[in-house]
Amino acid sequence: MLGLMQDWPLLLHRIIDHAAQFHGERKVITRSIEGPIVETNYAAIRARALKVAQRLAKDGIKLGDRVATLAWNTARHLEAWYGIVGIGAIYHTVNPRLFPEQIVWIVNHAEDRMMFVDLTFVPLLEKIADKLPTIERYIVLTDAAHMPAATLKNSLAYEDWIAEVDGDFAWKKFDENTASGMCYTSGTTGHPKGVLYSHRSNVLHAFMAALPDSKGIASRDVVMPVVPMFHANCWSLAFSTPMVGATLVMPGAKMDGASIYELLNTYKVSFTAAVPTVWLMLLQDLEKTGGKLPHLKRVVIGGSACPRAITKTFQDTYGVEVVHAWGMTEMSPLGTLCTMKPEYAQLTGEAQLDVKMKQGHPPFGVEMKITDDAGKTLPWDGKTFGRLKVRGPAVARAYYKVDNDPVFEKDGWFDTGDVATIDQYGYMQITDRAKDVIKSGGEWISTIDLENLAVGHPKVAEAAVIGVAHPKWDERPLLVIVLKKGESATKEDILGFMQGKTAKWWMPDDVVFVDEIPHTATGKIQKITLRQRFKDYVLPGVQAAE
Ligand code: AMP
Repeated sequence: MLGLMQDWPLLLHRIIDHAAQFHGERKVITRSIEGPIVETNYAAIRARALKVAQRLAKDGIKLGDRVATLAWNTARHLEAWYGIVGIGAIYHTVNPRLFPEQIVWIVNHAEDRMMFVDLTFVPLLEKIADKLPTIERYIVLTDAAHMPAATLKNSLAYEDWIAEVDGDFAWKKFDENTASGMCYTSGTTGHPKGVLYSHRSNVLHAFMAALPDSKGIASRDVVMPVVPMFHANCWSLAFSTPMVGATLVMPGAKMDGASIYELLNTYKVSFTAAVPTVWLMLLQDLEKTGGKLPHLKRVVIGGSACPRAITKTFQDTYGVEVVHAWGMTEMSPLGTLCTMKPEYAQLTGEAQLDVKMKQGHPPFGVEMKITDDAGKTLPWDGKTFGRLKVRGPAVARAYYKVDNDPVFEKDGWFDTGDVATIDQYGYMQITDRAKDVIKSGGEWISTIDLENLAVGHPKVAEAAVIGVAHPKWDERPLLVIVLKKGESATKEDILGFMQGKTAKWWMPDDVVFVDEIPHTATGKIQKITLRQRFKDYVLPGVQAAE
C-alpha cells in the first residue's frame, strides 16, 4: 500500500522560492569582483535567477546540458546556479586553481555548452579557449561598464545578457532524480573524476547540513561561506543557507586574513566555514593586529585535518566554537561533524580538544563502517584503524562516464580511500589517506597525527609527514617542516617537543626544513610530490644505496 501524501519533488529551485517568499528581505552581501561591497536579498536573487533560466532557455540550453562556472562566491554566481538548475541544466563548477591543462580536460570531458566566468579568470580562459570546442558562449559575470574587450566566443556581460529577458518565466518541471550539479574531484593521480549530484541528493543533503548537530544554522544567523562554490559543492552552503533563510555574506575574490576579518566584523557574521589554511591566515593576522571576533559564534573547519592549535586559539582566545568536519566531493560533501554529544559534553580543556581533533559523527543520511583490506568489519574502539566506507542518499554511486570504478563496491558501499578509527560513541577520526599511511614493520603509522603534533610547536607554520624507504622497517616517517616567517629551529627542538606525546616507534626518523610545502588545487598537501622529492632521502643510521 502506498502512502497518501503529496508528490512534491525535491527540486533545488524550491529552496530559492522558499527563501524569497519567507525570508525575501534577508540580505545577500557580496564583495564584488569589481571592488565595492554590494547588497541584494533573496527575493531579488530569485527574480534574477528566473531571468537567468529564461535567458539560458533562449540560448537553447535544455534539460541535461552542462553549464560551467569559473567564479568566486558572489550573488551573481548564486543566481547563475539557481537559474541553471531551474531549467534542469547542470551547474558545473570549475576550480580555477587547477592547471590550465586540467581545466581543458575537465570542460571537454563534461562537454559544457556555456560558461559563466568572473573577470579575474578571463585572461586565463583566453589562453585556453581555443581548446574548448564544446563551449558555445561565455558570459562574463559583470556589467557593460566593466566588460573587457571581448575575445572569448560570443561573450557578453552578464547584466546585458539577462537584460534581454523580462523574467516572466516559470521553472521547468522534471523528476527529482534529475542531475543538478557537477564537480570534479582533484585526484592526485590519473584524470579528475566527475561527481554528478541530483536535485534530490542536493536537497536532502541541505537538510542534513543545516541540522543542529551539523552546521546548526538558522534564520537569525549571518552565514559567510569562505569555502569557494567551486570546492566540493560549497559544502552545501549555497543551498542550506537560503533553505533556513539566514543572511548570506559572499567574500568574492579576496581571501586574505584582513579582508575576511573586515567582512566578519562589519556584517556581524555568526557562522563561517573553510579549510584550515584560511583560518591560519586569519589567526596570524589577528595576532598581529590584536583584532577580536565578537560576533562569530561557530566556524566549521574541514577539507583537511584541523590542527589542534587552530581549534584552541579560536576557542580560548576568541571564544569561537570550532566544529571539525570531514567530507568528500563524492558525499555532496558532508560526512561527519564534530559536535558534542551528551557523552562528551561535560569535557573541558585538553580533554575536550582531544575529542575535537576527531572528525566527528555523521548526520542522519550517512552510514559508516571501517573494514580491513579483506572487507571484514572492524570494531568501534577508537583505536583500530580501517578503510572508511560510507553510503547514503547524497553519496555518489558512480563517476560521470566511468564504468565500474572499484571504489563503488558491489554491496552499495563507497570506499572513501581514507583510513580511520571509530569510537564507541560513533565519532570517526581520520588517521590517513590509504595511500599516505606509513607502513613500518607491518604496523601503520598515522601521518596526520604526527603532523598535528608538529604544528603544535609554536615556531612551526606547516608540517607534512611522508614515508621514506627503510631497509629494516620498510618505511619510516620523515617530517617536513615550514617554519613561521622569521623563526628558526633545529631538528632537536622539534623532536624534543614531540617526544613523549606520541608512541616512541611513531617518532619521525628525521626532520627537514623547507620554504614551502606543495598543495593541491583544493588546499591539501600534495604528498605525491613530496614523496617524489624525497624518494632517495637517506635517513640517519641507514647506509646510502650504492
Ligand atoms: P575533497 O573531495 O576535495 O573534499 O577531498 C576529500 C578528502 O579530503 C577526504 O577523503 C579526506 O582525505 C580529506 N579530508 C576532508 N576533510 C578532512 C578532515 N577534516 N580531516 C582529514 N582529512 C580530511
